[in-house]
Amino acid sequence: MTSRAPINPTTKHVDVVIAGAGFGGLCMAIKLKEAGNENFVILEKGADVGGTWRDNSYPGCACDVQSHMYSYSFAPKADWSKRYAPWHEIQQYILDTTEKFDIRPFCRFGQEVNSAVFDEESGTWTVGTAAGDTYICNHFVLASGPLHVPQVPNIKGLDKFKGKLFHSAQWDHGYDLKGKNVVSIGTGGSAIQYCPEIAPDVKQLYVMQRSPAWVIPRDERKYLGLEKSIFKNIPGARLLHRYRLYWTNESRVWPIFNPVLAKGLGNLARAFIKLQVKDPEVAKKLTPDYVLGCKRILISNKYFPMFNRDNVELVTDGIKEIKANSVITADGKERPADCIILGTGFITDPRIYMKNFPVVGLGGRDLREDWKESAEAYYGTSASGYPNLWQLVGPNSGLGHNSIIFMIEAQVHYILESMKLLKKKDAAYMDVKPSVQTEFNAALQKQIQSSVWGTGCQSWYQDAGGKNFAVWPKSTWKFWLETFRVKAGDYRFYPVNQTDKAKSKVTAAA
Ligand SMILES: Cc1cc2nc3c(=O)[nH]c(=O)nc-3n(C[C@H](O)[C@H](O)[C@H](O)COP(=O)(O)OP(=O)(O)OC[C@H]3O[C@@H](n4cnc5c(N)ncnc54)[C@H](O)[C@@H]3O)c2cc1C
Repeated sequence: MTSRAPINPTTKHVDVVIAGAGFGGLCMAIKLKEAGNENFVILEKGADVGGTWRDNSYPGCACDVQSHMYSYSFAPKADWSKRYAPWHEIQQYILDTTEKFDIRPFCRFGQEVNSAVFDEESGTWTVGTAAGDTYICNHFVLASGPLHVPQVPNIKGLDKFKGKLFHSAQWDHGYDLKGKNVVSIGTGGSAIQYCPEIAPDVKQLYVMQRSPAWVIPRDERKYLGLEKSIFKNIPGARLLHRYRLYWTNESRVWPIFNPVLAKGLGNLARAFIKLQVKDPEVAKKLTPDYVLGCKRILISNKYFPMFNRDNVELVTDGIKEIKANSVITADGKERPADCIILGTGFITDPRIYMKNFPVVGLGGRDLREDWKESAEAYYGTSASGYPNLWQLVGPNSGLGHNSIIFMIEAQVHYILESMKLLKKKDAAYMDVKPSVQTEFNAALQKQIQSSVWGTGCQSWYQDAGGKNFAVWPKSTWKFWLETFRVKAGDYRFYPVNQTDKAKSKVTAAA
C-alpha cells in the first residue's frame, strides 16, 4: 500500500488536477466545465496558456496541418488567414478560446508539477509542484505535451561557444541576424521553416544536416475575404471544408500502411527535389535513403529553393567540435559562426523528460520504473497500475498525418465517459487491466511493424531501443470509434467505501 506524500499547509482539494495549459489541458478544462464540473485546476509551468504556440515563435513558425482542421471542432474560427496559420494566429486563437470558455480563473501559472502519488486508502492523487504547493484530487490529467522540452545536442565544445546560441523554441527576437555567419543545426520540422526565412538576411547560413528529411510541397494559400465571409455566415460550408481537409489528410494513411505505395510516392518526392535544387550534388545530399513516411514528412515550398542561394551551404559532414567562434566538421573544415541556432527538436521520450517527476501508483509502483523498457499505455490515455491517471497525447497516440487536436478531443471524451462510468458504478477509482493493456500494445506494435515505420529508419518516434512509442498506427477515425465508449470490462473498479472520508473533503475548487 502506498503512503501519502507529505501534505503542507497550502494543500488544496479539487476533483481534477490538469497539468499543462496547451491544446490538451485546455480542451480537458472546457469539456469538464461543459459537463458541469468546475471543481478543477490547471497547473501550468509557463506564464500563460498556449503550450507549443506560446513557446515557438521563430520566423516562419506555422502549423503543418491545415488550420481549419488544426483547431477545436467545438470552437470554429471562420477567418483563418491562410491554410496553415502562423504561430501568432494559432496562439491568439488559443487565447480567445480560453476567454470564450472562461478558463483563465482555473489556471495557476508558474506551477510545474513534479510529483504525483496515488493513495489507495483515500483513492486520491497527491500532486506536488516545484513551487511547493500540494493538490489532492480524484483524477489527475497529464496534459504536459509531447514536444515541450528542447533537445540540446551533445556536441564537443558547445558550452565554449562565445557567440549567440539559442534553441528554435527559445528564439531570441532581440538578436539581429543581419549580416551574421549563422550555423543552423538540424533539418527537422522547425529548421525547414525558419532557415528559408532568415537566409535572405544573414551573411552566410550553414545548414548542418545529419540525415535529410522528406519534404513535399505545401499546398499553401491565403483565404479570400469571400471565403471567410461564407465560412462565417454558412457554418455548413466551413464544416464541409473541414471534412474535406480531414479526409484528404486521412487518405495519407494509405502509403503509411502500404510501404510499397510509399516507395512509389518517394519517386515523386525525389523528382520534387531535383526540380527545385539546381546543383545535382546538393540535391543528392538532400535526398533521404529511407522510405517516405518512416520519419515525419515535412512540407515546404521554400526549403529546397533556399539551397540555390549563394549564401547558403548544406553541410553533411558531422560536427566534430565547436570552438569559441567557429564550427569544425569531421573533414577538418572550420566555418566561422557568430550565431548557432539549435533546430534540434525536442526530447520526446517521457522517460527522459520525466526523470525527476515521480508518478507513483498502486502498491508504490513508479511509472518511470514500469516504463523502463518502453513507455506504454492504453489508447495513450490510461496506464495499468495508475488508477484515475489520465494522459493526453500519451504513448502511441501521436500522429504523422492529421491533426493531433482530433485525437485530444477523442481522449477527453473517453476520460469524461470514464468519469461517468465510475459514478455509475459507484466506484472510487478504475484501473485498466494489465492483460488488456499488454494485448492492446502487442497489436499496435504488430501494426507498426507492417507499416512504413517498420521499414528500418531511426526517428524521434522511437526510443533508444528502437521501439516506436509515439504514433497511432491506424486511421484517426478508428481511434475515435474505439474510444467512443469505455468498455467496463477493460477496467478493474475499486469500491467507494474506502474513500468516502477523503471524497467528502474534495468539495471546493482551489
Ligand atoms: C513548431 C511546432 C509545430 C507543430 N505543428 C503541428 C501541427 O501542424 N499539427 C499537429 O497536429 N501538431 C503539431 N505540433 C505538435 C504540437 O505539440 C501539438 O499539436 C499540440 O500543441 C499538443 O498540445 P498539448 O497541449 O498536448 O501540448 P503542448 O502544446 O506542448 O502543451 C503542454 C503544456 O504543458 C506544460 N507543461 C509541461 N510539463 C508540465 C509540468 N510538469 N507541469 C505543468 N505544466 C507542464 C507546458 O508548459 C505546455 O504549456 C507542432 C509542434 C511544434 C513544436
